[in-house]
Amino acid sequence: MKILEDRIRQDGTVLPGNVLKVDNFLNHQIDPQLMDQMGAEFASHFKNAGITKVLTVESSGIAPAVMAGLHLQVPVIFARKHKSLTLQDNLYTAKVYSYTKQVNNDISIDRRFLSREDRVLIVDDFLANGQAVQGLFDIAETAGITVGGVGVVIEKRFQKGHQMVVDAGVPLVALASIASFADGQVIFAQD
Ligand code: 5GP
Repeated sequence: MKILEDRIRQDGTVLPGNVLKVDNFLNHQIDPQLMDQMGAEFASHFKNAGITKVLTVESSGIAPAVMAGLHLQVPVIFARKHKSLTLQDNLYTAKVYSYTKQVNNDISIDRRFLSREDRVLIVDDFLANGQAVQGLFDIAETAGITVGGVGVVIEKRFQKGHQMVVDAGVPLVALASIASFADGQVIFAQD
């Protein structure tokens, strides 16, 4: 998506550890117009995929997931990273290693929100090594639901997640695909 690539070029900062900081439109401050355009783009790719729900992980996946859900006209569920008084049992749970925080999280979804007829679109902000997506794949498998696609705002194609999703045979849409970082610059994949 050209508008997203331009925004990454303009506002993104490459940090050590192959981390792209994009906190003035995606990860801290959020640009709602851009989110809306990205939601429309996800929907245009997956509108005929029979998607019944969008699934993401809190917190940075929520904004793009909500916009995808809005344009697909389906509910959005975010897996939570912390149990609370209102989220105690009857949960689907998976372990996810956080790329940026370098800690293990248990992510949980209340069983009431998924049923066997569901066909979900997984949406996240970044695809790096694929841990977050794998956690949602695990939950989908336990719940006996189908994953109809994965949509990420930014993939770093040189990391493991891209191939993991391709190998799983799940359609993958990345709105911006980064081939590499070179001298602090972002090099986008050509296709
Ligand atoms: P993965 O689970 O695919 O290894 O990493 C994806 C998760 O880690 C995303 O949900 C995102 O929050 C975070 N992440 C991975 N790489 C980056 C990055 O380069 N920049 C930012 N801001 N977050 C990242």
